[in-house]
Amino acid sequence: MKGCDCCGEPAIARVREPNRHFCATHFTGFFEDRVGRTIRDDNMIKPGDRIALALSGGKDSRALILVLSHLLPVWENVHLVAITIDEGIEGYRDETVRAARELTAILGIEHHTVSFEDLFGNNLDTLLVGREREACTVCGIIRKKALTVAAEQYSATKIATGHNLDDEAQSVLMNTLRGDLPRFVRDAAQENPYFIPRIKPLSLTPEKEIAIYLMVNNAWNVLPECPYTRFALRAEVRGMLTKLEYRYPGTMLHLIETKKKIGRYCAGAQVSEPIRRCRECGDPCSADLCQVCQLRHSLGR
Ligand SMILES: [Zn+2]
Ligand SMILES: [Zn+2]
Repeated sequence: MKGCDCCGEPAIARVREPNRHFCATHFTGFFEDRVGRTIRDDNMIKPGDRIALALSGGKDSRALILVLSHLLPVWENVHLVAITIDEGIEGYRDETVRAARELTAILGIEHHTVSFEDLFGNNLDTLLVGREREACTVCGIIRKKALTVAAEQYSATKIATGHNLDDEAQSVLMNTLRGDLPRFVRDAAQENPYFIPRIKPLSLTPEKEIAIYLMVNNAWNVLPECPYTRFALRAEVRGMLTKLEYRYPGTMLHLIETKKKIGRYCAGAQVSEPIRRCRECGDPCSADLCQVCQLRHSLGR
């Protein structure tokens, strides 16, 4: 067994970018430093911010709340509130909601749950009958709306999500594969005055390291996976990117860099429709109807 590059104690983890070996303590330090740097480099947090953290109970958001609970005390007057969206997915959500509640209780962080049922009058399973293949699209639209409503309700100035490097690289590739340039640029754009800014402090952290971080910090928890993921294009892109990253280390980071560059080149350019107000609910959107209202119509409600 190799020794830790920092202290010589037996190493428990090998990081590939940069190629280093770490003991549990120095791995945690390395992991948290990178998250801190990601936050500072992109000016994600300012003094006085109220951060609504989307806590699904899955490993990414668990790691995010843990690392922020360690890092935030040095920021002046920054408040963290955790929000769990309960989509109402049978056999999946109950357990993750419970896990979210337990973790926030241990960390002493304010926690609220918002359900699709409250917002939409139905849970996701009911909404999706006969259209399971669209699960991630439908769920994504409603979850985004639910999170915005909850963040406004708790006066949040930022919404933090647990998207990791793998997720971000997959999104870049998926937007490319779908030919969706407006979305590509929208995802790359820093700020939009119409929406509560979203921050992704784990966006440069590989998924694999998130699992190690949770294990060495005794926060690992085996939870059921969302049963709808097998229907998604993302699952295929994920498999492909994991293989490429293994053979060509740095592939995922290069995709993120591409996104950032395109975002800079397109700054101020009009690649999508100008922001208007939804005819029915008044939410900011780029069409006559916002995505939530379009969805409501297509579901015949
Ligand atoms: Zn060490
Ligand atoms: Zn609307």
